[in-house]
This record gives sequence, structure tokens and C-alpha cells, in this order.
Amino acid sequence: METNVLVVDDSSFFRDLIRTDLESNGYKVLLAEDGAQALSVYRSHDIHILITDLEMPVMTGLELCWHVRAEDDQHRTFTILMTGDTETARRIEAFDSGADEFLAKPVDLSMLRARVRAGERISRMHRVMVEMLHTDYLTGVLNRRYFMERLERAYGTAMETGAAMAVAMFDIDHFKTINDTHGHSNGDLALKRFADNSALHVPDGGFLGRLGGEEFCLCLPAADLDGALARVEAIRRSTAELVVETGTGVRFSFTVSVGMCLIQDTTSVADLMSQADEALYFAKRSGRNRTVLRGAEGVTVKALFYVM
Ligand code: GH3
Ligand code: MG
Ligand code: MG
Ligand code: MG
Repeated sequence: METNVLVVDDSSFFRDLIRTDLESNGYKVLLAEDGAQALSVYRSHDIHILITDLEMPVMTGLELCWHVRAEDDQHRTFTILMTGDTETARRIEAFDSGADEFLAKPVDLSMLRARVRAGERISRMHRVMVEMLHTDYLTGVLNRRYFMERLERAYGTAMETGAAMAVAMFDIDHFKTINDTHGHSNGDLALKRFADNSALHVPDGGFLGRLGGEEFCLCLPAADLDGALARVEAIRRSTAELVVETGTGVRFSFTVSVGMCLIQDTTSVADLMSQADEALYFAKRSGRNRTVLRGAEGVTVKALFYVM
């Protein structure tokens, strides 16, 4: 995979010098003339390494580092600050602004390349760790912790802006029987197939997580009732059509029950989850393989969609 390096300097001589060198070493190089321009390039690209001059008009390298660090809470970008200033206090200030490395000007290109290689290792390691921290190992969808973090954020934004949002909780039907009949590893296979298939139906901006066991949750920001139902029902119907083939050639299928809720009827994320859970419980009790919406009136749980 390509490593993106953003080089920021008000001197076109230095920009070109560094760009030529890094490009000939296989890096993808983006350029900016000052901190403000750099910040806008940074926001529209996935930058692994940022190399910035310190003294620049409009926005200095220090300010740029400070902004990047504030926006990059996962530390995906490794930052290198360059300056001719040899004062220790200045260098300390650079590190305190969030720079990871320091390079004296005039730049020794072989030293710069060595710093970039070190930065590449660190940036990639951070990315792998963040990915692991957010992902359910078995199914590849968001894990419970990260799903809830995203849900809290999406809920807050929707409440602030008055936008619609729906949440659907999925629980595979009679999953214990699948394990008992076909073995735990084929149960795992069914979970993976369910997650892979469901992921195909998640729109941009939506996200799917595994809450635990055979329970999944889908958040659909900006979705009204009809839009959300179309997505959720597509998942439920296509799940019933999946055929899992075991190592011994046995084929089996399974179904899923769904509890849905719209945020306009809720007071908190906890309330949202408990209402969706209540709807799911109703879906189970009333026969499984169906989607149930927790009604707007509050108290009644209405079964809406029965298929089969
Ligand atoms: P219902 O239709 O009411 O949801 O019944 P169910 O059998 O699906 O529900 P139950 O809660 O009784 O059983 C869930 C089972 O899921 C029990 C547990 O052993 C199994 N399980 C939980 N996590 C995993 C997993 O990671 N892999 C596999 N294969 N099984 C798991
Ligand atoms: Mg300068
Ligand atoms: Mg369950
Ligand atoms: Mg179940």
C-alpha cells in the first residue's frame, strides 16, 4: 500500500528537493505552501507522514502540528518538523505542539528518509492497533465497544440537528441449535456469513456492530422509517436465503429476528437500545424471522412485518 507524505514549506526550492527525493523512493508526495493550505490537504487525504517547515506565513508549522494532533486522536499521522532554529526551547515547543520528530535545516536527505521510514513504521502500527481495537475478530464488523462509541456520537449529532436515525437489533434464531447440530465452528461460519451479507446492505454513513454472541446492531443515521425498513428487511430476507456449507458437505440455513426503533421516540442511547431490545424480544416471542418496530406511542410494541 502506498505511503502518503505531505510536504509543507513556503520555499518552493525545499518542497521540490524533498518531493523529488521521496518520489524516487516510492512515496506518494503531496505539497502545500503554508499551514492553512496543508490543513486542507490533510483533511481531504489520508496522510501517513507530515513533514513541515516551522516558519511559514498564514499558519506556522507549530500551529499546523497542533491542529493535526487535535484532529488525529488515533495518531494515524507521524509529524516531522523542520527548522534552522537550533534553540532547545524552540525544539521543546515543537514536541509540545505534537510533533513526533525534529529535523534540522538545511535538511540532510538521507536523514530525512531515515526519519520517514521510522515514521512509516509507527503510523502503520498505530493503524493496525486502532483497527484491532475497533473490530470484532470473528466477523470483521465493529466490536461492541466501538459500535457503542459511534452510536453515542451519531445519537448526539442527530439530536442536535434534528435529523432522523434508526437502530435495528438482530439476533439469529435458534442459534444454539445450529451449534448443537453442526458444531461450534460451523456456528462461527454462520456468524461470518451473516455479517458479510449484512455489510452489503449498510449504506454510506451507516455502521454495523456485533454486540456479542449472535447479536448484531445496525445504526442508520439520516434514515426515516421507510428507508430504514427497506434496509433492515433486505438483511432479514437475504439472511434466510444464505446457505452455509459445512466441511462435511452438509448444508444449512438460518433466520434472524429484528427489533427496530427510531430515535425520535427516545430520550437517550440507553433508552434507544432498550426499546430496540424490547421490539426484538417481541419478534422472538411472536414467531421469529420478522422485523418488529417499537411504536411511536411509547407503550405498545407493534409487530409490523411478518413474512412466512
Ligand atoms: P433464540 O432464537 O431465542 O435467539 O435462540 P438462540 O438459540 O439463538 O439463543 P440462545 O441465547 O439460547 O443461544 C445463543 C447461543 O450462541 C449460545 C452460545 O453458545 C452461542 N454463541 C455465543 N457466541 C458464539 C460464538 O462466537 N460462536 C458460536 N459458534 N456460538 C456462539
Ligand atoms: Mg520557511
Ligand atoms: Mg441472543
Ligand atoms: Mg438467538
